[in-house]
Amino acid sequence: MIVKYFLILMSLLTKEKMPVIIIRNTRILKIFTFNSPWVVAIALFPFIIMRDALPSHVDENVILRHEKIHIYQQLELAVVIFFLWYFIEYIRYRLKGFSHFEAYRNIIFEKEANAGMHSREYLSNRKIFAFLKYYTEKK
Ligand SMILES: [Zn+2]
Repeated sequence: MIVKYFLILMSLLTKEKMPVIIIRNTRILKIFTFNSPWVVAIALFPFIIMRDALPSHVDENVILRHEKIHIYQQLELAVVIFFLWYFIEYIRYRLKGFSHFEAYRNIIFEKEANAGMHSREYLSNRKIFAFLKYYTEKK
């Protein structure tokens, strides 16, 4: 079963365009983000949930690339491990005294997504488990 999972995973990762289902619904987004006012989209494989309308300073293509990077990370970590790891990272930074926003920005998954979201080629050239390199990289 695990072998089958990895075969499917590899075939998805080698495709340049990954199938995601985009849901534009602010109400659904708020349920998943505990009503956070500054979240504009979240990735929850295979869905990307976005606000009905994005703030004018936000580029939709950049947001979609950011969320697609999270979709890849989630696939690599069988979704559940991703969210556990994400949560542990967040708690670790909070315990270090970081604010909510600083802790969020330092999570390796966010570091990778923020670094890669401005490049159109990032996902097609991305290596598997690419987020790991942000453990060794300085801010
Ligand atoms: Zn993110």
